[in-house]
Amino acid sequence: MSSDLVIVYHRQPYEEAVEDGKVVRRENKSPNGIVPTLKSFFGSVDHSAWIAWKLADDPADPDFEQKIEIDDEYGQYTVSRLPLTEEQVREFYHITSKEAFWPILHAFQERYNYDPVDWNNFRDVNRRFAEAAAEEAAYGALVWVHDYNLWLVPGYLRTLRPDVRIAFFHHTPFPSADMFNALPWRREIVNSLLACDDVGFHIPRYAENFVSVANSLFDVDLGETVPVDPTLISEGTALTERTVRNSITFEGHRTAVSVCPVGVNTEYLDSVARSEDTEQKVAQIREELGESPLIISVGRTDYTKGGVQQLASFERVLEANPDLRDAKIRLMHISVSANRNMTAYAEIQAEIEQIAGRINGRFGTLDWQPVALISRALPLEELVAYYRAADVAWITPLADGMNLVCKEYIASRYDEDGALVLSEFAGSAVQLHHAVTANPYSHRAMDSAIIQALTMPPLERKGRMKKLRQAVKADDISNWRPGTLEIGVSNDQPAVA
Ligand code: UDP
Repeated sequence: MSSDLVIVYHRQPYEEAVEDGKVVRRENKSPNGIVPTLKSFFGSVDHSAWIAWKLADDPADPDFEQKIEIDDEYGQYTVSRLPLTEEQVREFYHITSKEAFWPILHAFQERYNYDPVDWNNFRDVNRRFAEAAAEEAAYGALVWVHDYNLWLVPGYLRTLRPDVRIAFFHHTPFPSADMFNALPWRREIVNSLLACDDVGFHIPRYAENFVSVANSLFDVDLGETVPVDPTLISEGTALTERTVRNSITFEGHRTAVSVCPVGVNTEYLDSVARSEDTEQKVAQIREELGESPLIISVGRTDYTKGGVQQLASFERVLEANPDLRDAKIRLMHISVSANRNMTAYAEIQAEIEQIAGRINGRFGTLDWQPVALISRALPLEELVAYYRAADVAWITPLADGMNLVCKEYIASRYDEDGALVLSEFAGSAVQLHHAVTANPYSHRAMDSAIIQALTMPPLERKGRMKKLRQAVKADDISNWRPGTLEIGVSNDQPAVA
């Protein structure tokens, strides 16, 4: 069926499981997160489509149900699932995307593994995503492609469907030319992105990096330089940029370069934070803690998240501050393991377990373990209770496109209390001007930031939280858009040669 809006995102828009031999699809429980956010755009048009992949033992199996029609609270939409074999997924996602692209995007050149990449498989998978999108899109439809593992989709799609409008959003950082150009496929990737009508990023720095990469690779005309919105300028943070180019023209086609930071669903988080259930959990957590201060840290077990560096800082801080040991301070370190089968992640997991164990062994007693290490995902509703109960949220990634955890923490603190220590290398740092910023590469900066947050006078802490909440509310997810493009169909889109 012809769709006015086509979302191209690698995951399916629901959880799929087999129960009693039958496939069941479950909605994501909470309206917070990227999938429900993207689905919320379905309500603006008559019919939409979502393109994803689905594991198939035999992609040629005639019983594989490639397309399903859904009519739910979000609207009417087709989900087109590309059948991919385990090997194709491994190569496209776990190797090319996670071992080659991910380290470069986050500026970890030493972790970049280029040799095992099967580039033809990556091309093939991206081409199939583009073909599926071309099949679903109505004339002049908006096709909104998400994230680096689909970098080649716009190029293929433009050839198939010159009439559609293509937006692309990067959910990660975008690195400088010095880093990005380490990718041998750089020209093919950027050439594809320049087939878009709009390429979007979380913050101006990533947009500027993209412009300089394009300028280094092709003979492009750069658009206007415009001042950065003051809400995205935070003095003294590593990612602040003052001006940004708003477009790139290449071979007669103009691509808008836009900045649209992803926010959180503040209304939903506020309602969870105020619920009876949460109140009870918070009271229970605080009762168990007694007078002990609680620091909360939440992230995935990924080298970019800086979990090891943070635990090392906690160890130094405990060693240097006997008063914190006397106060029985607790660090709840939630580090969600994903991709356990990937060596890089397994190594980080082992390091985190080792250092958390060492800290507890060095300082812990029968009734006090300084680190509570949680390696599994907690439901958001439970996280919110910990956000509310914590004295400090300690969020210190080495690199992070945005970081939503810190925004969720702020949105949950309707009591207008609680301190936030935030890495200056998280995209959100340019928006959250009143966080205590930390440089996770510096021992001194890390240690002093957490001490500053723990010892902050209540008046200052509350004043900062009030300002942080204003920033997070202003940036509510409902303000997020496909860059400069309108949702829906357009009949006056000029065809591209
Ligand atoms: N999250 C969760 N349970 C956990 C840990 C994290 O539901 O135990 C969620 C968290 O609420 C947030 C997301 O995972 O919405 C992490 O997003 P973020 O942007 O901070 O980091 P990413 O993992 O996307 O790099």
